[in-house]
Amino acid sequence: MGRVVITGGAGFLGSHLCDAFLDRGDEVVAIDNYLTGRAANVAHLGGHAGFTLVEADVIEPFTVDGPVTAVLHFASPASPRDYLAHPVATLRVGSEGTRNALELALAKDARFLVASTSEIYGDPLVHPQPESYWGNVNSIGPRSCYDEAKRYAEAVTMAYRRAHGVDTRILRIFNTYGPRMQVEDGRVVSNFLVQAIKGEPITIYGDGTQTRSFCFVSDEVDGIVRLLDSDVDTPCNIGNPGEFTMLELAELVLEVTGSNSPIVHEPLPEDDPKQRRPDISLATSELGWAPAVALREGLERTAGYFRQELGR
Ligand code: UDP
Repeated sequence: MGRVVITGGAGFLGSHLCDAFLDRGDEVVAIDNYLTGRAANVAHLGGHAGFTLVEADVIEPFTVDGPVTAVLHFASPASPRDYLAHPVATLRVGSEGTRNALELALAKDARFLVASTSEIYGDPLVHPQPESYWGNVNSIGPRSCYDEAKRYAEAVTMAYRRAHGVDTRILRIFNTYGPRMQVEDGRVVSNFLVQAIKGEPITIYGDGTQTRSFCFVSDEVDGIVRLLDSDVDTPCNIGNPGEFTMLELAELVLEVTGSNSPIVHEPLPEDDPKQRRPDISLATSELGWAPAVALREGLERTAGYFRQELGR
């Protein structure tokens, strides 16, 4: 049994990770500053003897009493809406926050896993994206606060590995969705589902031919736990290789929700990547991982969650 520190533990992905580690018998210390996380995401763990929730901003140095076996750095805004609203906080949590989390891992002799992203690949010129692709990122565009923070996060993680021997894992997350996303999250799956359920227009940005690959949260969490437990110390893509245009996603959302919402087009955000699909050969061969939840099923489950949220 281990003792796992999860920064961003009250966030969408972080809270599901808390559940996963507690379920297998580990203790969990979740740290969050509630910039985009919510205490409500972990409220059900309040009475759990193995669970501790700490309110702190990891851009300041921090420590945790007692032994720690793993540090998972998940604190960061992740929706473009959020990181565009908080560009400096996003850069700081990806840079100073990652270094502070590495310092904790170093001090505790703990394994370290950083939540990196498919945004490392920018607007990719190689498709699908293998881990060996170095990417095509605009260093001064509106998305750079997130993309460059995560690229730095990978770099500082490798530097701590080389300089201090920290046992590191680098996870590259592709678009993930599911229960506990906020109604106002702003990402495409939550926007489309909420709009469809409310009977409001579905907002496709641009002509809708851009693609993304959507991973249901339970699959993503399974991949993350396997990566942490593995010997894979090079970056590892965890995402669902099923690739859809935003037009296809909108049609599927309308079908799954039985909604009559019209589709409207809005301007395409600057630097919006045209295509994205993970090459998951590494995760499949080294972790024995592949996603199990198809997009339709995942959307049905997520629609059920949003109906509940909107009914509150
Ligand atoms: N998008 C859209 N309508 C929305 C929200 C997003 O068409 O209401 C598009 C967005 O322009 C992008 C894709 O959906 O091409 C995925 O956007 P999201 O913000 O979910 O994540 P990203 O992959 O861009 O980080």
